[in-house]
Amino acid sequence: MKKIKIISLFTCTIFLTSIFSGLTTAKNLISIDTSVKSESDLIKITDDDPVSDIDNSYVVYADGVTLYIYNIETGATDEVYMGGDIVFPKISENRVVYYDFLYMGFKIYDINTGEKTDLIVTNWPGGDTDDFQFYGDYIVYENSDSGLYDTEIFLYNIATGENNQLTDSPGEDYPENPCIYNNIIAWQLNEGNLADIVMYNIESEEYSRVTNTSQFESETFPSIYENNIVYSYFYYDKVSGTILYGLKMYNTVTEDETTIITREEPTGSTPEIFGNIIAYSEPGISLRLYDLITNYDISIYEGSMLVTPWNLNGNYVVFTVLEDGVYLYKYNDPPNQPEINGPASGKPGTAYDYIFNAVDPNGDQVKYIIDWGDGKTDTTDLNQSSEDVTVSHTWSKKGEYTIKVHAQDEYGSDGLDATFSVTMPRTRALYNFNLMGLLERVPIITRVINRFFQ
Ligand code: CA
Repeated sequence: MKKIKIISLFTCTIFLTSIFSGLTTAKNLISIDTSVKSESDLIKITDDDPVSDIDNSYVVYADGVTLYIYNIETGATDEVYMGGDIVFPKISENRVVYYDFLYMGFKIYDINTGEKTDLIVTNWPGGDTDDFQFYGDYIVYENSDSGLYDTEIFLYNIATGENNQLTDSPGEDYPENPCIYNNIIAWQLNEGNLADIVMYNIESEEYSRVTNTSQFESETFPSIYENNIVYSYFYYDKVSGTILYGLKMYNTVTEDETTIITREEPTGSTPEIFGNIIAYSEPGISLRLYDLITNYDISIYEGSMLVTPWNLNGNYVVFTVLEDGVYLYKYNDPPNQPEINGPASGKPGTAYDYIFNAVDPNGDQVKYIIDWGDGKTDTTDLNQSSEDVTVSHTWSKKGEYTIKVHAQDEYGSDGLDATFSVTMPRTRALYNFNLMGLLERVPIITRVINRFFQ
């Protein structure tokens, strides 16, 4: 089937909404993550419903002749007159690239200097917001190479003006949904009704398959951050007759593929990754965040009016709800695993100091929740992230103990446990140790004993 594109970013949403409207009813925006401050963590940027992009401190979106630049730190929105007919602005390092339908090509706006520059006329026939991505000096985009419906992937270098066609797909195969991070570009290659993920290295100019679809499996909507390419998949299990949906991830260095979630209901749609967070949807039901480190999986929006795609940076997810607005959700990383330092052995009845230190990626204050392994626990007060915190403990009986500790940030988000083994030696060893101490302090006894044993 040939791909026919329509200039409507709502097509996908309406399609999903119509499929799932029988399954769910639109609910109000809610945050069911009880571990974060719910009210201040959800900010409405505008009552309009354009797709937005985010990077570092700005969210950008457009409306005809105007580019809107929302400053996350100040909460202020700048309206910049662009002229033309601009769509789908994308931001990377304080520069905004957008498509102008009057110019029929890409332009760039520098937030720092206020400079607007024409880049390249591509005569793009129009599509959706996933048709191009912008990273550093590169724009990777879909375009037709000959006929209107023959989509291929192109790479434009802003610094050099070089424009290269990366794909030349045979027959009715076609690539779409490109993504880029550093030197790696990935896209979805549609072959018949199924799709695979393919990647390209800008430096080595090498292509490789991320997935090799069987006739029962399909992978779509890749997103990349550092070495991780995340994508949606579905798999038809002909033995059980069920279809499985979910998310998978491919490491470009180790070439390992891991399954992140699998369900029998549609999920894992249109993932976007940044750092250890993946934002994905259960179509028509929710927008969810999955934390690769802690495996936390939370819903940040429930309802059927989500507009694809959403975008994220190190602290925020920006997403659009049809006929409602654009929202910014601040997510909270749990603290990292604490480091534990202190004596690995000692004697019962003596207090020993242990030093705990955990880093919270958001710089939040952390408390330590300590299980000493002897049935006793301690919880510290809040301390600065990455600051040494000393807590002493006395084990009353001999034995082997495992200290288990995790850090919890000021918003109640729990990090992973760290462990530390401690030995309280057997009584005889303890007696000998004490005897030796006594002998050192009382030389006459030492002399007597030495004579006795010689
Ligand atoms: Ca935190």
